[in-house]
Amino acid sequence: MRIDLHIHTSPRSPCSGLDPQELIQEASRQGLDGICLTEHQVVWDPQDVDELAQGGEMKIFQGNEFTTNQGDILVFGYKKDIKELLTIQELHDEVKAAEGFMIAAHPFRGFKTFGIGQLQMTVEQACKRKVFDFVDAIEIGNGRLSDQENDMALKVANQLGLTGTAGSDAHRVDEVGKWVTDFEKEIQNEQELVKELRAGRFTIIPGVRNI
Ligand SMILES: [Zn+2]
Ligand SMILES: [Zn+2]
Repeated sequence: MRIDLHIHTSPRSPCSGLDPQELIQEASRQGLDGICLTEHQVVWDPQDVDELAQGGEMKIFQGNEFTTNQGDILVFGYKKDIKELLTIQELHDEVKAAEGFMIAAHPFRGFKTFGIGQLQMTVEQACKRKVFDFVDAIEIGNGRLSDQENDMALKVANQLGLTGTAGSDAHRVDEVGKWVTDFEKEIQNEQELVKELRAGRFTIIPGVRNI
């Protein structure tokens, strides 16, 4: 089951220009089986998700992307709007209590978070980032990152023995499906999604666009 785990739509994510209907069309065109709505700090009303899914084949899951003092974290199995910036410890406590799953999103995105110079760091140095003590997995394929940035995340995940997920981080229709996670089992809801993520029963696929 191919799922794009990391997507922002408009207007719920103000930085995104991606219309939810266009997203479904594009994901279907690419033969994806599911998409995850991971807006910034806001969850969809379940009724709106049902409406969007109506009559279609596409499975729609909900996650969330929270900004913390240790970077952005994708969260599954924890549905709450939190507008203020949390510390990684606060988010971790909340998500663990809800038995949710946390993924360090684009941990080595160059310019915005660290400055590209820091990509010169060694894998050993990169592994010491505090965020990795708090997450269940690392996003090692992000559609908006350079190969170099994704590669550093892959090396860190391998070194730390953390599983690696992938998602497009699409903010525009032409970014949808650029990195997806391919699950072994059929997934019906967010609970099952968390279970499969935790079990690591998936592989990742780069750029299935245009297939
Ligand atoms: Zn982000
Ligand atoms: Zn994002």
